[in-house]
Amino acid sequence: MKCIRCGKCCSRTEIYLSSEDVARIEALGYDKKDFAVKSGPYLKLRKVDGYCFFFDPYEKTCEIYPYRPMSCRLYPVIYVLGKGPTVDAGCPMAYTVSKAELTRKGKLLEQHLSKIFKRAKRVYLASLQK
Ligand code: SF4
Repeated sequence: MKCIRCGKCCSRTEIYLSSEDVARIEALGYDKKDFAVKSGPYLKLRKVDGYCFFFDPYEKTCEIYPYRPMSCRLYPVIYVLGKGPTVDAGCPMAYTVSKAELTRKGKLLEQHLSKIFKRAKRVYLASLQK
């Protein structure tokens, strides 16, 4: 795809985090309490003034771009319940995503979501034991 770095995906999306995403970002020195929020058994990227915690609204850049969460890497391919991997029409460059890219990113997204669900299951089961 051809990203024009408009930053829309850094404000309008909800990015769920895997354990690998969290570990990669924590290794940079960030505290999970600062960049992530709980959503039931899940962890999501925190928003500040409507934008991702790591988004610089002036430069329109991501402060951790090489280390960004997997869902950010795969965007604008998103997962829609009942439909599967889909190109998000909210991205102004959605039309530049090829069928091959959708297929490739869709497979990676399903693997990523599977890890997120496994982590959420562990968190949920641990909560039952408290
Ligand atoms: S919304 Fe699309 S074009 Fe804009 S920054 Fe995100 S991926 Fe790039």
